[in-house]
Amino acid sequence: MSVKVCKFGGTSMADGNVIKGVQKIIESDTQRKYVIVSAPGKRYSGDTKVTDLLYNCFAELKESGSCKNSFAAVRARFVSIVKELNIPFEIDALLDETEALIEREKSEDFTASRGEYLCARIVAAVLDAKFIDAEDVIYFKEDGNFDGEKSYKAISAAVTGAKRAVFPGFYGKGTDGKVKTFSRGGSDISGSVVARAVNATVYENWTDVSGFLACDPRIVDSPVRIKTISYKELRELSYMGANVLHSDSIFPLRKANIPIHIKNTFRPEDAGTAILPSIRYTPSGNLVTGVAGKKNFTVIFIEKSHMNAEVGFICKVLNVLADEEIPVEHIPSGIDTMSLVVESCNLPKAKLEKILENIKAAVAPDIIRVIEDIALIATVGHGMSSSVGTSARLFNAIASANINIKMIDQGSSEINIIVGVKNDDYEKCIRAIYCEFFK
Ligand code: ADP
Ligand code: ASP
Ligand code: MG
Repeated sequence: MSVKVCKFGGTSMADGNVIKGVQKIIESDTQRKYVIVSAPGKRYSGDTKVTDLLYNCFAELKESGSCKNSFAAVRARFVSIVKELNIPFEIDALLDETEALIEREKSEDFTASRGEYLCARIVAAVLDAKFIDAEDVIYFKEDGNFDGEKSYKAISAAVTGAKRAVFPGFYGKGTDGKVKTFSRGGSDISGSVVARAVNATVYENWTDVSGFLACDPRIVDSPVRIKTISYKELRELSYMGANVLHSDSIFPLRKANIPIHIKNTFRPEDAGTAILPSIRYTPSGNLVTGVAGKKNFTVIFIEKSHMNAEVGFICKVLNVLADEEIPVEHIPSGIDTMSLVVESCNLPKAKLEKILENIKAAVAPDIIRVIEDIALIATVGHGMSSSVGTSARLFNAIASANINIKMIDQGSSEINIIVGVKNDDYEKCIRAIYCEFFK
């Protein structure tokens, strides 16, 4: 029998009336058996997500030993949701208990997870469904990575016999027995995990846009919708900033070839986007599928004559960064040059200075230079590798917009070209690329 797993994001949980819409969507299809929810998100621009309110609680707790003041805002959100839903639900008692547990546990992850926990308890009551706590079925390993084998077994056992079940997203349990969260936006991963465990026909990811769009709708007004996209393209775009879906969402689904369907809670009749494993994906014929990017990178540029002839040169440089536990995002290189691209938040000034000294000591470069405030923009599409002249069109479009390209990296997967530009040129560059390939 077909089974659909549905994940509803923060804006789909924002208030009681929106949750009533979600109830309609779920109850309109008997295949929608398993539901994963995020914590309530923003109700309007300028509002604060419940998860952020909870991080404030933890900050207050750390400072003063109590989270009383900050928790008041969390309390108000949930009390008004239950009121709008007009259901018999003992929200005050549950909130008292939660506040006391936050103060007792003194854990940032536990505190942050309570938005999903409380929301799932409420949605389970609305749907008259079984509530399954993520800490009893989603596990992490000793090294902090997600433990698939253990989790899939626990989830399939927990859902047995349940007509419908609701899971809180975003967290699970570590080997120390304590609640541990995924990274931000991680409810998308929880949804994938449940979809894999129950071998879903489809993983529906319900959000506030009508699908994966060709670029960020906050930068270009109403970008075109991507009808179908491959797992690979999705991974490239979401990793590079298209955060409509967490970039790790595809890993649990890959082996089982489960498709993801992005849908809009506020326009359920819209077609949305189908994200397909390679065996089910036929390229759209478009040259470019989408454009995404992120700001705030630092580039360390290194030049040395005959670098390529020096055995182990790149390895020595990378070891310097590994010794400081700094992740490197990209390593574009030429015959005598290489660059290291690192997220600026991982390179505080003192660390950067130490790294520059250590690179000098390790490989004696002719030139070493740091370029800060760089934005990376990825242009992604299966059509790009097979078509002559795509990069020329891309670079021309950027040049015509009067933007200076600081760095170029053609990924070895051949489905993306990444350019580095000044942070200040980020939005302008996305618009220029979008216009070239989609207008
Ligand atoms: P949810 O709370 O449902 O998980 P998110 O806020 O995480 O939703 O993701 C949806 C948002 O992602 C959209 O409102 C949109 O502003 C943003 N976004 C960024 N890039 C894209 C893109 N390429 N396509 C669609 N949405 C995008
Ligand atoms: N509520 C969490 C966050 O804000 C997880 C999620 O929404 O997916 O990051
Ligand atoms: Mg999200």
